[in-house]
Amino acid sequence: MSLLQISEPGQAPEPHQQKRAVGIDLGTTNSLVATVRSGSTDTLTDLEGRHILPSVVRYTESGIEVGHEAWAHAVEDSLNTIVSVKRLMGRGLKDVSTLGGVLPYQFAESESRMPLIQTRKGAFSPVEISAEILRTLAERASESLGGELDGAVITVPAYFDDGQRQATKDAARLAGINVYRLLNEPTAAAVAYGLDEGAEGVIAVYDLGGGTFDISVLRLNKGVFEVMATGGDSALGGDDFDKVLAGWILDQAGIGHDALESGSHRAVMVEARRAKEALTDNDTVSVSHGDWSGEVTKALFNELVEPLVTKTLRSFKRALRDGGVKARDLQEVVMVGGSTRVPLVRDKVAELAGKEPLTSIDPDRVVAMGAARQANALAGNKSADEMLLLDVIPLSLGLETMGGLMEKVIHRNTTIPVSRAQEFTTYKDGQTAMAVQVLQGERELVNDNRSLARFELRGIPPLPAGSAKIRVTFQVDADGLLSVSAEELSTGVSSSVVVKPSYGLSDDEITRMLRDSQTSAASDRDARKLREQEVEADRLGEALAVALDTDGKALLSEEEFSALVSDLRNLKSVRGSGDADAIKVEIERVAKASDAFAARRMNQGIRNALSGHKIDEFKES
Ligand code: ADP
Ligand code: MG
Repeated sequence: MSLLQISEPGQAPEPHQQKRAVGIDLGTTNSLVATVRSGSTDTLTDLEGRHILPSVVRYTESGIEVGHEAWAHAVEDSLNTIVSVKRLMGRGLKDVSTLGGVLPYQFAESESRMPLIQTRKGAFSPVEISAEILRTLAERASESLGGELDGAVITVPAYFDDGQRQATKDAARLAGINVYRLLNEPTAAAVAYGLDEGAEGVIAVYDLGGGTFDISVLRLNKGVFEVMATGGDSALGGDDFDKVLAGWILDQAGIGHDALESGSHRAVMVEARRAKEALTDNDTVSVSHGDWSGEVTKALFNELVEPLVTKTLRSFKRALRDGGVKARDLQEVVMVGGSTRVPLVRDKVAELAGKEPLTSIDPDRVVAMGAARQANALAGNKSADEMLLLDVIPLSLGLETMGGLMEKVIHRNTTIPVSRAQEFTTYKDGQTAMAVQVLQGERELVNDNRSLARFELRGIPPLPAGSAKIRVTFQVDADGLLSVSAEELSTGVSSSVVVKPSYGLSDDEITRMLRDSQTSAASDRDARKLREQEVEADRLGEALAVALDTDGKALLSEEEFSALVSDLRNLKSVRGSGDADAIKVEIERVAKASDAFAARRMNQGIRNALSGHKIDEFKES
């Protein structure tokens, strides 16, 4: 999620200084780790030559098992064997209760907002459990690469919100992994196919995994993937294929379906999954459950899962509609996830897209491989002119307004490139110059944010306060460079600066800034409210003082004059009280008291302006 300066031009390290950088696909069902070695990208295997690490963690009497070992006990030790923990990442207790039917765990009572899963070894949070998976992969990688890892890119679903992304980062930190950045899974898959280096255009990434279906429509523009639309179904995947097949098996064996729903019947699910995977390359497969044994054909399997596949196609079409794209406009469709091996899935997607989807890279490994390429680039292992892929801004960008307040112009997590304009006005009568301070951060007060640059707009025509129109435009290009320009609209005078918003800001600093903004949200709001009232009081006070000075004697009776002078004095003293509500009340009172005076000044102003002119001159406008 971060916008990092990757390496200075011409400073790519020598080959012997190559950093140990990996990409990690932290999946719901399976996880993998990959790296780039001598220019080629590969997933790393365990000692037995297996690429995939099942995302399963089991708490045993003697310790912790992760992966195949844990998966092997999922049936008999289901309460201590945690599967699909990704579904709980960054979720509150409330969200989790709705997953109760899907996940058979006991959730522990806890003070924290995070759900804790009760096991024989204690209660663990999803972050801790995910950390075990990440740690196992990181150890595999550092053994294979011969040393400590320098950093990793970890993938997350495109729809993951802040909380889910943050939880993923926390898990990595717990596992002792330096996270270069999180990368959207569909973007990673597209990068694995090298689409970031290809022609610009729109692509779709169809990801059918074990428990989830994600469809993403991305637009590639100058090496940057912009997410145009995402969709899918968080409760639809290969597991559901298993379930319908398991249901069929139970029917054949003359056993009721109730067991399936309770989640206690993992044995028939395991058998169904085995059969399903075998059917990808075989037309007939034998199956057994308990005393029963029989055969299942590909044709029968297709019939069973067809409604599920059709459901994914509906989501696909909806995402295309949301993105404003026609199926025939798709440049490529990338297939991701183990379940896209099912021949029926491939056929149906090809039919919808009107072209063969990309399947040449193993759909289990493609996300990890793309992440590895990205990690390699972020580590500075590639030369500077190669891929630099930035998709969102990590912190909001804005500018200082009166009273030391931060006004956000581009909010964090906005996809780049992006351009946003906002109009501002002058604070004082006759103001001819304006200082623009460019800020980065989430806090309300200028001083709590980072100042990126400062420049001035001069030559604003002298107009009454609030009449000049100044448009400030923020633009972040595909390289993450921010330029800010300010233009006075009636005269066209303008001024601008170019800044590198992220330069020197580490991921940790970004995290800290975000954390600060969350913990200080309430006090920030109060501070902002007070500053706004103080600014308004100053503005009114100054305007009234000037008005009394120039026209007070001429337009007011002596009583009126001294009443307003004392109003002004009151306003100034309440202004210093630090009480936003009191200041507001006083502002309203003084504004009302000076209404009549303001009206007389306006009439006189018009008369003065008209004197010496023929009325005709003004008829046109
Ligand atoms: P996730 O992204 O959820 O971790 P994966 O992308 O690893 O999941 O996909 C896991 C799913 O892919 C499982 O449902 C598994 O049964 C299925 N799968 C793996 N290999 C095959 C195959 N050869 N044929 C059909 N389905 C398969
Ligand atoms: Mg996946």
